[in-house]
Amino acid sequence: MTKPTPLIAGNWKMNGTAASLAEARAVAAQVDGKSARVAICPPTTLIERMSQALAGSTVIVGAQDCRCEEAGAFTGDVSAEMLADAGAKLVILGHSERRAGYAESDDLVARKVAAVLRAGLEPIVCVGETLEQRKAGQALTVVTEQTRGSLPAGLKGKPFSVAYEPVWAIGTGLTPTTPEIEEMHTAIRATLRDLFGAESDKAPILYGGSVKPSNAAEILHAAEVGGALVGGASLKAEDFLGIIRAL
Ligand code: PEP
Repeated sequence: MTKPTPLIAGNWKMNGTAASLAEARAVAAQVDGKSARVAICPPTTLIERMSQALAGSTVIVGAQDCRCEEAGAFTGDVSAEMLADAGAKLVILGHSERRAGYAESDDLVARKVAAVLRAGLEPIVCVGETLEQRKAGQALTVVTEQTRGSLPAGLKGKPFSVAYEPVWAIGTGLTPTTPEIEEMHTAIRATLRDLFGAESDKAPILYGGSVKPSNAAEILHAAEVGGALVGGASLKAEDFLGIIRAL
């Protein structure tokens, strides 16, 4: 089995202005890209400036969402091509905050993934169950269906990652147990093999949801965990570096 190169990606969400570039520079100064790929996904307004600020470092700059279309009358939206033009290399898609807040369906997420591939970028596709779904014993079914529905056939042979982010663990300080994480990641891996064959073993499956320096080592060393998608703890270089060093 091809082991994926780990990816640790920071999702800054709607946080950060020019002053925050200092945090990204502090991360870049300590990261050599040898044990893992490290990415920061700032708000769209910072993508270009962060790409310039981190030029020459191994830290990858990413985005948090995009529109499916390449251009047109879509006030306030940005296309994958525009993100690429600004310097982004990765795009997070299907984050639960977008699925819940903007009613993004699996089908829409799959079309956004296709748009990201069209622009030559790499998608990080988020899936995860709500607390109600977990309590009802539906976590595995929900996540497997989201994975199938959100990943278009065009991903075969392309670099991508899936982030398992239980909705109830995001920003709450709660995390699943290690066996619970392993169960979900193993199911996602089986789904990827079914969809894209053994070649998809190269795609890391990230865990996301309240990862911090104190729990990162246990999570990152769990079976089938190929990295992390980090929200709150990616905003401060010291915390983000603590997670990266836990690999
Ligand atoms: C996220 O929103 O992708 C996330 C994982 O957030 P946090 O780390 O803050 O729980």
